[in-house]
Amino acid sequence: MEGKKSGDVITFLGTAGARIMVATQILASGGLWLNLGGTEILVDPGPGCIVQSTKRKLRADKLKAIILSHRHLDHSADVNIMVEAMTQGGLKRRGRLFAPADALETEPVIFSYLKGYLEGIEVLQEDKSYSVGNVSFTTPIRHIHSVETYGMVFRTAGHTFSYIADSRYFDGLCQKYGGELLIINVVMVEPNRPFDHLSVPDAKRIITELKPKVAILTHFGMTVWRAKPWEIAQRLSEETGIKVISARDGMRFDLSQLDTEEAD
Ligand SMILES: [Zn+2]
Repeated sequence: MEGKKSGDVITFLGTAGARIMVATQILASGGLWLNLGGTEILVDPGPGCIVQSTKRKLRADKLKAIILSHRHLDHSADVNIMVEAMTQGGLKRRGRLFAPADALETEPVIFSYLKGYLEGIEVLQEDKSYSVGNVSFTTPIRHIHSVETYGMVFRTAGHTFSYIADSRYFDGLCQKYGGELLIINVVMVEPNRPFDHLSVPDAKRIITELKPKVAILTHFGMTVWRAKPWEIAQRLSEETGIKVISARDGMRFDLSQLDTEEAD
C-alpha cells in the first residue's frame, strides 16, 4: 500500500454542533481545516472560525477553497470574513466557494460585494464531482435536513475519506459514503424525531456498515456533550470493532495514521 503518502491533515477548529452548543461556545465552533498534500480547504466555517484558525496559525490566504455543506449558521456564519481573509481583503482575487444553491440564491449567505473577490463560485449538486488543486471531492447524495445539504467524499493522492454532514438517518448514507476515514456529525445521543440530525445509534449503524479504518465523531449537541463524547467513542469502538475517536477542539488528525492502521 501507499504507506508513505502523508501530508493529509485535518484540523477540527471546533466540535460544537447545533444551536445551544454553538450559542454557548461550551465547545468551539468553526469547521474543518483540511491540508491535503498542500492544498488547503476550509469546510463549514461556523461562528468563531476566524478566531480558531488564526489562533492556530492557519492562514486563510493559503486557502484554495471554502466549502459549505449547507446554509445553517453553525456551518456558514464566518464565511464572509473567511472569504475576505482568503482574498487578503479583496486585494487578491483568489479561491473558490462551493455551496448548495439555496445558500447562494434567495437569501445568500455571502455578501454580494465579496463575490467579486473570489475566483469563482460553484453550486453543489447531488452526485457531482469537483476539484480543487490536486484534490477531488464528490457530493454523492442530498441529505435529509431542513435546508439543502450535502456531505463530501474527498480523494487525495494517498487517501479517501468522507464527511457526513448534518442529516436525518436514511439508508442512502451508508450506500453513498466510504473511504478509510469517516467523519460524522453526531448531534444527539438518541434519535429525536423532529430534528433531522444523526444520533449515536445512527453513527453505530453507519460505522458498522461502512467499516472505515477510523471513524471520528464531531459536531456535538448538548446531549452528546453531557454523555461525554470520548466515552461514547470508546463504547462504539468496543461494539463495532472499529477505531472510533471523538474529536476535540483543535485536534489535528494526520491521515498517515491510517496507513499504519492496517499493519495491526
Ligand atoms: Zn444543519
